[in-house]
Amino acid sequence: MSDCVFCKIIAGKIPCNKVYEDEDIFAFHDISPAAPVHFMIVPKQHLASLAEADASHQALLGKLLLKAGELARAQGATDGFRTIINTGRVGGQEVYHLHVHILGGPQPIGPMIGPRGITK
Ligand code: AMP
Repeated sequence: MSDCVFCKIIAGKIPCNKVYEDEDIFAFHDISPAAPVHFMIVPKQHLASLAEADASHQALLGKLLLKAGELARAQGATDGFRTIINTGRVGGQEVYHLHVHILGGPQPIGPMIGPRGITK
């Protein structure tokens, strides 16, 4: 946990472009945006991924998702957005602190998976 980049962002030890913060959750812009609007919502509590979540995280997970629409609209994604939670090696997770990506923009952001889809 001490080496977790998102824990350091939450603690103010690494700068970020903050979107929102309350006692449980923190939101900030992705450093490498994949859409005109691209930020992440994370729990302040370190939780490596969705695969590590259990019943004790139920309210926290609900809060992460419930905040998505309000923050997306405030960031300019006024006509829809995409939520992505990459989980584990197969899911392409790079940072092992649970995070919900919120992507959107004034224009549609395209298909969820590239035109070739998943190859074997
Ligand atoms: P994932 O592949 O779902 O684990 O996504 C991790 C995301 O974190 C990537 O989209 C990165 O661009 C983003 N990221 C990594 N380091 C930082 C940072 N210091 N500030 C903001 N975003 C970051």
